[in-house]
Amino acid sequence: MAYEWLEKSLETIHRAHWYRSVKALAGRGGAVVNLEGREVINFASNDYLGLAGDDRLVEAAIEATRDYGTGSTGSQLLSGHRQLHRDLEEAIATLKQTEDALVFSSGYLANLGTIVALVGQRDLILGDRYNHSSLKNGAVLSGAKVIEYEHCDREYLEAKLQEHRQNYRRCLITTDSVFSMDGDLCPLPKLLELAEKYDAMLLVDEAHATGVLGSTGAGCVEYFHCTNKPLIQIGTLSKALGSLGGYVAGSKLLIDFLRNRAPTWIYTTGLSPADTAAAIAAINIIRQEPERREKLWKNVKQIKQHLTQKLTLFPSESPILCIGLDSPQAALNITQNLQENGIFAPAIRPPTVPTSRIRLSIMATHQLEHIETLLSYLNKL
Ligand SMILES: *Cc1c(COP(=O)(O)O)cnc(C)c1O
Repeated sequence: MAYEWLEKSLETIHRAHWYRSVKALAGRGGAVVNLEGREVINFASNDYLGLAGDDRLVEAAIEATRDYGTGSTGSQLLSGHRQLHRDLEEAIATLKQTEDALVFSSGYLANLGTIVALVGQRDLILGDRYNHSSLKNGAVLSGAKVIEYEHCDREYLEAKLQEHRQNYRRCLITTDSVFSMDGDLCPLPKLLELAEKYDAMLLVDEAHATGVLGSTGAGCVEYFHCTNKPLIQIGTLSKALGSLGGYVAGSKLLIDFLRNRAPTWIYTTGLSPADTAAAIAAINIIRQEPERREKLWKNVKQIKQHLTQKLTLFPSESPILCIGLDSPQAALNITQNLQENGIFAPAIRPPTVPTSRIRLSIMATHQLEHIETLLSYLNKL
């Protein structure tokens, strides 16, 4: 009896066309993948630079596994820390041009642990309404007063700061830098200005920007020329870096504090040697091969320029391009048709986002023919 509600709840999910299930891909990730027995062009991956299947990352992971074993065997404060972890933290700090960095087991955990460590019941969090789930759940977990502001709305944010800031001890503003389900950018310079004016900390989640935006691939912070500003930068090793794990980059003081206070870093096992080594290899490639980033942006431009005006393309300044649709059913139908035509592009539906869409992630390793196939199909819709 206690579990009967599960079935009813699932039925409701089905009726709303919100039901989700997993699909297994075969083989290595890349611009073309094998999905349910057929080759499809992959517009569903966060592997923007095509590094997850790169031989150099694979070799680095194998070598680290040989040298250090498969698991790191403990929390980093006990037995789980290796020189490899420190090497990765230093590589991240160098890429980000911050004093230091700390590596977590995932980006999700980096957000939870950082937010919980920085604010509590006497404090205030102001977060963009479209923020990633990890920022939202971190805010709830912290016990702070949470106010969501309208997406990228500076006036709304300032009004809330004016109204509430003085009633709380500390204040933390949280935002995605590239919004993961829309592809637009946060107004970073303006957010920094407000943070300074109202004595607030500013946390930016660079998950989709690291390796992608900025002249050296450092992210949205670099893109906006805000590199040396007082910021808390979070990111993931699992998107453009092709590995698994998360990080925080910032001042020495911040990182030292988090090592002592972030529960999702202290009470969890250190990143595996394989993931750690793969991420180091990825950062080296990002530094040495800017042509990958250039190719990625060339592909994005190509699609934006040649996509028919009849489709509603969301405003985007990233390799995430969304085509708006009226209903979840319409989005599902198009995704299915695309798949039958050899194109893998997911439908993103409520409750993940307010309105349904097809979400395309562009990769540096997409060839001209892949882009042309996509365009020829979409322009016939
Ligand atoms: C993917 C993502 C995360 C989570 O990163 P993982 O390393 O996959 O846990 C956090 N924030 C944003 C904005 C993301 O897109």
